[in-house]
Amino acid sequence: MRVLVTGGAGYIGSHTVRALIIAGHDPIVVDNLICGHADVITKIFRIPLIVSNIGNKKLLEEVINGKHDLLKGTVHENKIIEAVLHFAAFAYVGESIKNPIKYYSNNVQESISLLESICSPEIRSQRVNNSSIPIVFSSSCATYGVPSRNPISEENSQKPISPYGKSKLMVEEIIKDLAKSANLKSVILRYFNAAGAAEDSLIGEKHIPETHLIPLVINTAIGLNRELTIFGDDFNTPDGTCIRDYIHVVDLADAHVLALDLFVENSKINNKLNTFKNKENCNIYNLGNGKGVSVLEIIKIVEIITKKKVTYKVSERREGDPPLLIASAEKFIRDFEWKPKYTNIEEMIFHAYKWATKSI
Ligand code: UDP
Repeated sequence: MRVLVTGGAGYIGSHTVRALIIAGHDPIVVDNLICGHADVITKIFRIPLIVSNIGNKKLLEEVINGKHDLLKGTVHENKIIEAVLHFAAFAYVGESIKNPIKYYSNNVQESISLLESICSPEIRSQRVNNSSIPIVFSSSCATYGVPSRNPISEENSQKPISPYGKSKLMVEEIIKDLAKSANLKSVILRYFNAAGAAEDSLIGEKHIPETHLIPLVINTAIGLNRELTIFGDDFNTPDGTCIRDYIHVVDLADAHVLALDLFVENSKINNKLNTFKNKENCNIYNLGNGKGVSVLEIIKIVEIITKKKVTYKVSERREGDPPLLIASAEKFIRDFEWKPKYTNIEEMIFHAYKWATKSI
């Protein structure tokens, strides 16, 4: 499939681009490189990278229609893309509380512009059944807020407690409306905590600044970070620190490739679920492992793997952090016969450690 990947130069996006290539798809990446890394796309994968915000409508329409200069001579030239994987977003919960407009403007406003382009009458008139270009949207467990029960299923109520979570929920709602009004097929994937790196360390997680727990704990162990701060040890959890459900980034990436099959009329998944026949345009899934790991447990595992001590202090809670988030991904497992490859946290941390020490 010819796939447009927004934010494909970022952490989850780049692992998904690799999974798409392995599966025989033809991805194009649009990324503004605020968080992404160009080299991964142009030097490692050698596929088209268009550096832009997704809100640049004129440019995006050129890309969607295969008219952009960088697409000349490729399989995309003069052809409309067949699906969009939409990763591009800011994703720091704490920052979103301090600077909500940054999140609403980038995550919501830019997404609206992208949706306008893929649902435009000109595009729809060229497609079967006057449909819009289908989209897989990267949503988040942050849309659930503080859940009333764990594990969290897709039916749990969504009451986000941060602008980041709210921005993701807003886009979900817009996509649901477009399912009806613009014949937009979609898969909304609500990720829990992505972790790890490619097993061969070809690509991995590189955020500047780094705020995510696992890379920070590893960096502290190997001396790249002086001290870790634990954001609160007075939560109502067994050891007082927050519990999260970590999912290996490669499994997350593979799940996106599976999700694309929902857009193919006679695919195994569509014959099984009858989504085409029943005109169910919006399909929502959680992606996690169903296992909770606390901040202190992560520290202990990193100490065992690296054979180094992690220096830490405990500070106030970080605003917007729910104590416990554990996924039920039963629906995705059942529908797609999904078998994640790396379900244990030690393996995720080991891959992240290998990646972090690759160039030292
Ligand atoms: N965390 C922490 N110290 C840090 C970074 C994160 O104690 O320097 C905690 C954070 O409060 C949360 C968990 O680790 O409970 C995972 O945070 P992360 O930012 O990795 O992912 P999030 O759950 O926010 O998506």
